[in-house]
Amino acid sequence: MLKGKVAIITGGTRGIGFSTVKKFLDNGASVALLGSKEETVNQAIEQLKKENEEYNVLGFYPDLTCEEEIKTVFEEIKKHFGSIDILVNNAGISSRTLIENYTEEEYDKISDLNIKSVFTCSKVAIPYLKEKKGVILNTSSMVSIYGQPAGVMYPTSKFAVNGFTKSLARELAHYGIRVNAVAPGVIETDMVKNLPEETIKPLIQTIPLGRMGQPEDIANAFLFLASDMASYITGIILSVDGAARS
Ligand code: NAD
Repeated sequence: MLKGKVAIITGGTRGIGFSTVKKFLDNGASVALLGSKEETVNQAIEQLKKENEEYNVLGFYPDLTCEEEIKTVFEEIKKHFGSIDILVNNAGISSRTLIENYTEEEYDKISDLNIKSVFTCSKVAIPYLKEKKGVILNTSSMVSIYGQPAGVMYPTSKFAVNGFTKSLARELAHYGIRVNAVAPGVIETDMVKNLPEETIKPLIQTIPLGRMGQPEDIANAFLFLASDMASYITGIILSVDGAARS
């Protein structure tokens, strides 16, 4: 479905991002995966090459909020692969801190990664995407619709991702660039595994499909939205959550 396409996927070292990297590679794309550390990026590349040494995959670990670093990395990706067709802004961190305990530092950390990096990576990618009628995909969350009862900056950042997605889709439509987001429900990644049992168990009971989602459930949605099968879809927030509505 993505034969000949070049994708950049942030937060590609594990969880939803890693599964999306693999899904895109299996569908014929060349992929640059971005992570936060050299070590985890190298581990992810090693694991992928072990599974299939033909995979066309590169790894980088720039500061996602630094425009200059992103420019250097995206230019290197373009030089290596010849184009940039798809950007998946997936890196994100969550929080369950109560508002009275929030520090300014935690506020900045969440808004920098979950909002500013989406803005910065998109801004830097747009000149390349214009040449290819490319695609921007963002990882939102079900809490971007319903909120959550703690860690207010996390849902707030995902509401911002939705606003960014819908607005940028309209701004860039005349270039043929599509911008969409996927809003995952409860997905079995490190982000969720780190939550206490007493939080996760009741959460699963509220999911009508009766299970947590797997990273591949989200990767499948990204694959569809990245592909030409979604060529008339832009500005949507696609819920992939087993009808979870908490
Ligand atoms: P994860 O913790 O398994 O992976 C997070 C990824 O983000 C990793 O690849 C990590 O390297 C990267 N990352 C973290 N901090 C970074 C930084 N400072 N700079 C660059 N990269 C950094 O999490 P996940 O569950 O796979 O989450 C991926 C996305 O999905 C996030 O945006 C998250 O908000 C969203 N999401 C997850 C769930 C869920 O239930 N797991 C639900 C809704 C939305």
